[in-house]
Amino acid sequence: TIGMLALDAAGNISGACTTSGMAFKLHGRVGDSPIIGAGLFVDNEVGGATSTGVGEEVIRNVGSFLVVELMRQGYTPENACKEAVNRIIKKNPEKAKNLQVGFLALNKKGEYGAYAIQKGFSYAVCNSEKQDTLIKGQSIY
Ligand code: ASP
Repeated sequence: TIGMLALDAAGNISGACTTSGMAFKLHGRVGDSPIIGAGLFVDNEVGGATSTGVGEEVIRNVGSFLVVELMRQGYTPENACKEAVNRIIKKNPEKAKNLQVGFLALNKKGEYGAYAIQKGFSYAVCNSEKQDTLIKGQSIY
């Protein structure tokens, strides 16, 4: 999945995502990307979040909605992403060892962060200080 989150000069948040789906998927499978709240969620009062990885796990946890709600409660974007990842792991710790899910989040203050289950999830930031800077996301494993 490619997920994008943006904060404009007027302070409005927007987001978008696109995906190729999973390799060897069943015909007709619907992943998390087209489901609002799963692969993408934006609330202009709080911020936005998007996900990548095994969509079924994200849908089960309404992942991007969860990340935004955690930010509403005061979590930083990175900690909100970490908590969402931990919820997925908690439901099935053995399975989680071999699957990838990552979240990316941005809040109204322009703070951003990401967290994934497995290593190798990085994201690009573009703002007044950083021009297309690649940042390595934190991960549990
Ligand atoms: N999240 C996508 C899906 O489950 C897969 C991806 O990361 O592109 O459809």
